[in-house]
Amino acid sequence: MNHFDGFRATLAGQAFAPGDDGYEDVRRPWNLLIDQRPALVVLAGSVADVQATVRLATERGLPLAVQSSGHGAVHPCDDGVVLNVSRLTGVAVDADAQVASIDAGARWRAVLEAAAPHELAGLSGTAPTVGAVGYTLGGGLGLLLRRYGFAADSVLAADVVTADGTLVHASETENPELLWALKGGSGNFGVVTRLQVRLYHVPLVQTGMAVYPGDRAAEVLATWADWTGSVSDDVTSAAMVMSVPPLPSVPEPMRGQHVVMVRATIAGGDGAELDALRSALGTPLMDGFRTATYLEAALSGMEPTDPMPSTGDSALLDELSPAAVDTLLELTAPGSPVPGVEIRHLGGAAAKDPEQPSAVSHRDARYVAAANALAPTPEQLAVVRQRLADGFGALEPHTRPGRLVNFMPARSTPETVQAAFSPAAYQRLREVKRTYDPSNVFRFNHNIPPAP
Ligand SMILES: Cc1cc2nc3c(=O)[nH]c(=O)nc-3n(C[C@H](O)[C@H](O)[C@H](O)COP(=O)(O)OP(=O)(O)OC[C@H]3O[C@@H](n4cnc5c(N)ncnc54)[C@H](O)[C@@H]3O)c2cc1C
Repeated sequence: MNHFDGFRATLAGQAFAPGDDGYEDVRRPWNLLIDQRPALVVLAGSVADVQATVRLATERGLPLAVQSSGHGAVHPCDDGVVLNVSRLTGVAVDADAQVASIDAGARWRAVLEAAAPHELAGLSGTAPTVGAVGYTLGGGLGLLLRRYGFAADSVLAADVVTADGTLVHASETENPELLWALKGGSGNFGVVTRLQVRLYHVPLVQTGMAVYPGDRAAEVLATWADWTGSVSDDVTSAAMVMSVPPLPSVPEPMRGQHVVMVRATIAGGDGAELDALRSALGTPLMDGFRTATYLEAALSGMEPTDPMPSTGDSALLDELSPAAVDTLLELTAPGSPVPGVEIRHLGGAAAKDPEQPSAVSHRDARYVAAANALAPTPEQLAVVRQRLADGFGALEPHTRPGRLVNFMPARSTPETVQAAFSPAAYQRLREVKRTYDPSNVFRFNHNIPPAP
């Protein structure tokens, strides 16, 4: 018997306390650097479980962390309650209305698979394994970002369990301020048990990537950056510099090599824009561009799937100057503890104000550069953090102020989180937080404290 037994008996799902069989399997999120030891991990089996867990934590004064896949965990929840929603995986697609209803813990893959038979696509990113809700609440920079904007801009409505355990609906007419804040303000306002998002008719896309030798990185990045200055909003692309691990699963020309890659997803057009890039870049080591369904495109990314100890940093840029490129290449030079950086092209539809406003800010930034590294030991973590601090410090003269929530490093503080929003959006978010979570129950996230 322990002091959670009465609570456990009420659950449709399961709960694990230290010492229970299975506790070790559920205590940590996908990002293993968050090495937490909660007093209780609840695997919610229903919306009622979500409400009961929020009430349990608040009534007992225990810290509460909400977790779906755990890809975006940022603070360890020691001795508190982890509310894990990963079993709430329902997805329903209304093909005529082009709307998906997504339960709290559904992964993008499930949403895309439900939408694909109708030639519909959701605004997913490079990893179909991340939670569709967590990703979308944090803005959501997808493969079709420049065509259809941030995923958060396509949110239509949400069901939310707020800090007192009440289930409320947020839409344009009901709790409209809450809806606005959820669109980009991340998990600060409650547990979203169902999110309704717009889907788009995307029959086929051109998608894939081309790989070039790493010693051509400066030239390839410059050519790609020139190309991004002329492409239409149909084209969403990124360039990556990377020391590829020598794994058997990696295609031969890249295996164990230092390479530069350009990837793109193009919704529409006749292929001329891609041809222009190919001819400007010359012969690649590998050219994997092809025509595919959106589902095939979204499932073919090279993102890691197994849980790992990952850390990183990112910055916004208005231009990819030769000096900025040099700094990024120095950060990721062969042998660096930071093996790769990705530069994504922003703008297009993401730069325009959406039909219904959202909290997403910094829409006019042209690029985001994001670097990630694995750090399995404390010693390696210290080395990686130092290299990231040096590299992003050197990059600072070439960056612009601001952050994107989904690319913010762990261990964020209210000051660093503030940088993700315009001053007006941040103030408004703090006021919405005061209304729906005045005691900052939902704080194990990129936290926005309530207005005083
Ligand atoms: C390999 C990889 C690839 C990525 N690619 C992209 C990309 O292409 N574009 C992009 O924009 N981002 C990308 N990300 C970032 C990713 O979108 C964020 O880490 C996101 O927060 C993950 O959400 P999650 O629900 O899977 O993770 P979690 O860690 O479970 O949740 C992340 C945050 O959202 C909150 N949350 C989750 N579910 C709910 C819910 N139902 N209600 C309320 N709050 C909730 C959590 O409390 C937490 O604060 C990537 C991350 C990784 C690791």
